[in-house]
Amino acid sequence: MRTISIYFLFCIISLSTLSAKGNQAETTSRPKLVVGIIVDQMRWDYLYRYYDKYQNGGFKRLLNEGFSCQNAMINYIPSVTAIGHTTIFTGSVPSIHGIAGNDWLDTKTGKSIYCTDDSTVQSVGIANSKSGRMSPRSLLSTTITDELRLATNFQSKVVGISLKDRAAILPAGHNPTAAFWIDDASGKFISSSYYLKSLPEWVDNFNNSKPIDKLLAKGWSTLLPIEQYTESSADDVSWEGTFKGNNKAVFPYDVAKTYATDHGTLRQMPFGNTLTLQFAKAAIEGYKLGQEKTTDFLSVNCASTDYAGHLFAPNSIEVEDVYLRLDHDLADFFSNLDQKLGKGNYLVFLTADHGAAHAKGFMESTKMPTGLLSKNLKLDLEKTLNKTFGSEKLILGIENFQVTFNKARIDSLNLDFDKIKSVTVKCLLQQDGIQYAVDQDKIAEASIPSPLKEMMINGYNHHRSGSVLMVTLPGWLPAGCSKGTTHSVWNPYDTHIPLIFSGWKIPHGTSHRTIHMTDISATLAALLQIQMPNGCIGTPITEVLNDK
Ligand SMILES: [Zn+2]
Repeated sequence: MRTISIYFLFCIISLSTLSAKGNQAETTSRPKLVVGIIVDQMRWDYLYRYYDKYQNGGFKRLLNEGFSCQNAMINYIPSVTAIGHTTIFTGSVPSIHGIAGNDWLDTKTGKSIYCTDDSTVQSVGIANSKSGRMSPRSLLSTTITDELRLATNFQSKVVGISLKDRAAILPAGHNPTAAFWIDDASGKFISSSYYLKSLPEWVDNFNNSKPIDKLLAKGWSTLLPIEQYTESSADDVSWEGTFKGNNKAVFPYDVAKTYATDHGTLRQMPFGNTLTLQFAKAAIEGYKLGQEKTTDFLSVNCASTDYAGHLFAPNSIEVEDVYLRLDHDLADFFSNLDQKLGKGNYLVFLTADHGAAHAKGFMESTKMPTGLLSKNLKLDLEKTLNKTFGSEKLILGIENFQVTFNKARIDSLNLDFDKIKSVTVKCLLQQDGIQYAVDQDKIAEASIPSPLKEMMINGYNHHRSGSVLMVTLPGWLPAGCSKGTTHSVWNPYDTHIPLIFSGWKIPHGTSHRTIHMTDISATLAALLQIQMPNGCIGTPITEVLNDK
């Protein structure tokens, strides 16, 4: 009897010691800083296409030390910047989080609405400019950055940075410390009165140091001898776009002169990424990110990969050089973080908001299927509807491959909306390059492969999307895209993105399991032991968690 009691007592003590240790480890363990790096328009294959030319501290460091999800897929259409950033940080999709495009049409007026426009706020850091009149007001759900602020009773600092307003604002959520983006005219990083009354001193100091002049002074030549760019097409090909004021797309570029002609061109140069990461370093210093008690969160979008990608397209030496230079900039950024916070004390994830298609001319030159949609698509549709229903102006517009109808007019004329949509579908299916057209409220019953249906349903926001959606043939591009390229469709070139977690407690490895963009925030929530964002539909990537 006595032996048994002692045995029980021993068991109880052992169990309570174990659980105390367990609790201690689970409640106190968070990284000092989370850094989300979103490389705009980065196709997954760029990790390997240029792998042999990357040096050790940038992309290769992430791949060789971190965990790479090799089949991370976007699970909605349209695959564009604003939605990508919102989905990464909300774990949700346009149907729920409300960011239905970079722009969408107001379904009542047909007026184009920009995702972060906000006329109720003022620019901060620049007078009389619209470029700062922005906020996350159109975003309907919380972000992982919001959840970190909520979880720490707003003691965590959250900062969003990009050249693009939307890519700075949407990741930072509704209640960050601040978000900063560039004002092209002045070449300064600015913000909005939604966040701040005036720019912090460190931002003024950064702007006043004239960083752009320094970055452009040496021109843009290839980082390596140009004959080594064997991964890319010849330098001078007909399908590349050109910088404003230039008539050829060939190295070397006089970027200072081009910038003087049009300040917006900085975005298309690799130095736009360098500037962004320099500013991110200044933010870490200025706000002491990761250097105080609570976990902080910094989101950085490198946007020049997107602008250069649109202009020159994936197979160009220009795009390759933009990535090789970004690789150097990332290496410098990571070594700065090592110095400031200590290697292993911060968590990095790198991903992309979308990919991009090859240029039409490149596809033709290599015998791959491609084409351009008709530029008369809207006109043809209007004519057909006019002929069938005897009424004009039944369409408000076409945006994001979606047709928005003039519902008020259709109702006032007592027309059959279902019939209008089915005539629209038939008319669109007769157009070259359109593979499917579908009434958005009848996607589930359409004869379309189910992975596409799910992406369509996820992307369809009842209040902000058009009622008929069209899907182009693989490799086809919108009218007007005869040079350079674009993105926004379901195909893997636009939706297969890199996703690497690295640093704090992340095991080294890879997974080829299909995971979705919506899983990123769910995984971050699990790593940080905080609540998932309130529209999150993703699940944690268990391979990345160290407690599996
Ligand atoms: Zn883009």
